[in-house]
Formats: sequence, C-alpha cells, structure tokens
Amino acid sequence: MTTRRTFIRRTAAAIAGVSVISRVEAGGRREDSGEQLFPVVVSTWNHGLPANEAAWEILRSGGYALDAVEAGVKIPEADPAVMTVGYGGLPDRDGKVTLDACIMDEKGGAGSVTFLQHIKHPISVARLVMEKTPHVMLSGDGALQFALANGFRKENLLTDAAKKAWKAWLKTDRTFRPVVNIENEIRQNHDTIGMLAVDRRGNICGACTTSGMAFKMHGRVGDSPIIGAGLFVDGDVGGAVATGSGELVMKTVGSFLVVELMRNGRSPEEACREAVERIVHKIPGYHEHQIGYLALQKDGQVGAYCMKPGFDYAIRTDSRKELVPVASYCSE
Ligand code: ASP
Repeated sequence: MTTRRTFIRRTAAAIAGVSVISRVEAGGRREDSGEQLFPVVVSTWNHGLPANEAAWEILRSGGYALDAVEAGVKIPEADPAVMTVGYGGLPDRDGKVTLDACIMDEKGGAGSVTFLQHIKHPISVARLVMEKTPHVMLSGDGALQFALANGFRKENLLTDAAKKAWKAWLKTDRTFRPVVNIENEIRQNHDTIGMLAVDRRGNICGACTTSGMAFKMHGRVGDSPIIGAGLFVDGDVGGAVATGSGELVMKTVGSFLVVELMRNGRSPEEACREAVERIVHKIPGYHEHQIGYLALQKDGQVGAYCMKPGFDYAIRTDSRKELVPVASYCSE
C-alpha cells in the first residue's frame, strides 16, 4: 500500500534519478529492522522450491548470483516431471519440443536462445551466447549448431508422458488454448521458471527458461527468451520475470516495464500490479489469460502480482524457504 508519505518519498527519489531502496548495510542487513534481505533467491511456481535450493547452495557460500540462477533453473530443465521446462516439456503441435531461455547479469549482459531443440539445458547455452559471442540471441538451428560446437550433447527431449499428452491433444479439435495455470490442470506440472537472485556482494542476476505454450505452432517463440519481456535485470534497480501467456507480456514489454516502474519509485508489488493493469487496459480478452510477474529489488525486497488466482512464487533466504501465494487482478 502506498501512503502519501511513501509516495512523496518515492517520487522525490525518482525525480532525483535514484531508485528507492531501503538502507541496507554491506552484507544485506536492513538498517531499520535488522532483517537480512540478501542473499536471496526467488522463482516462479512451486517447481521453484527445489530450483531455489540449488541456487541457495551457491549463494549461502558467497557465490555469484549468475552461477546461482543458472544452477537453479537447471533443476526443472532436467526434471521430466516438470512438463513445461526443458527435458519432458510438452511439445508443439507437430510433436517437437522447442525451448526458449535467457539470462542476464548485474552489468546488463544478456544472452538468449529461442526455438532450440535437442538440448537439455538451454539456459547454459544462453549464458554462453552472453559470454562467448558478440550477440544477444541465437535461434533454432544456429543455436543448436552453437551448442554442439561448445560441447553440448544432442538428446531426445520428448518423454513418453509428453508424447502421450500430445497424442491425446491430436484427438481433440486441435485448437490452441492457453491454459491459465497448468498446475491446476495436471497437478505435477508447472509453467515457465523465472528466477532472480541477489548474492552476498549485492549483485542481481536473473534467468528464465521454458518449453513454452504446449501445442503451440511450430516456430512460435514466447516472451521467456525475449530480454525485457520474460526477463529484465538492471543492476542499479532490480529485476523482473514473467510467466503466463507470453504474447500479452511481449506486447507490453512486461519485465522491462516492471523494472522501470521500480526505478521510478514503485515497490516491487506495485510495479508488478501496474504491469498487469497495463495488459488489462490495452489487451481485450485479458481475463482468459494468466500473467504472473515477480520482481526483486537489488536491496532484496520482493513483490509479485498476477492476472488470475493460482500463481505463486518460491523464496529462499537464510530464514525463509517457502511458497508465497500472489494477489491477483481478477477474482476468479
Ligand atoms: N510465458 C511462457 C510462454 O508464453 C509460458 C508460461 O510461462 O507458462 O511461452
């Protein structure tokens, strides 16, 4: 809730061109309450819980946030039970598993792969694009060739369970319908994983990886690998990730918008809410879609907001290890 006082404080800070962050001592402790705000890692949906643990192993021992987010999202990428990310992801309408991923560091470095097939860890390929090429994004066959040239192995990513789901879909009218919260449909499944972390030194980094919308058109790329849509990190402010119907997020450059709103003084939750409301005001039919935004300020403060009930995020700090339900714009 923004009071008149916090509004004035935030507005004054925004005019002065500085992001509004609480006073945090070196080491991530808040001056006023003593609360330890970072290191911290947050990620979307409940597959974020085991992913956060892998990231936390790196953060707690003083490791780099970029290594943490890469290691974290590799957990659902490799897990065949997670049917919306990496290996085991649901295929497109032609039965092909095509993956999208991107990564950003605190210095504004960015790497992305889109429409990548046969590689279990697209996030690691995205990191290599960032670190070893003059480019930001590689796509399709070019991304695959780059991965193979850098030692990645070609694998079959279509599991029997995903193939069965696709075969069942082929027997329907084959209409593409975005599923609002996949985990409400098939309990063990979840959506894109977007992860943000601040390490002990205060560096913020993010990663986002997905098999995208199940039964999408062959060649469709969603928001998740698009810098500014599925993920955006600005080391001076914070980061944001998106999940849900990627087309709506892309049309409003959602994650960039969230970070810019935080730069202008909104709290993480206020920024996420305003980005959801932007979709409400601009895109007819918004209520048929789930959109979830999750934001982390560089001082460790977290917030989220979504279109429909059912989105949650996982958080891990020294004292917290839990799933947090997120407030929604629509009541059902
Ligand atoms: N945003 C992803 C996409 O549109 C899907 C999701 O997060 O559920 O590909």
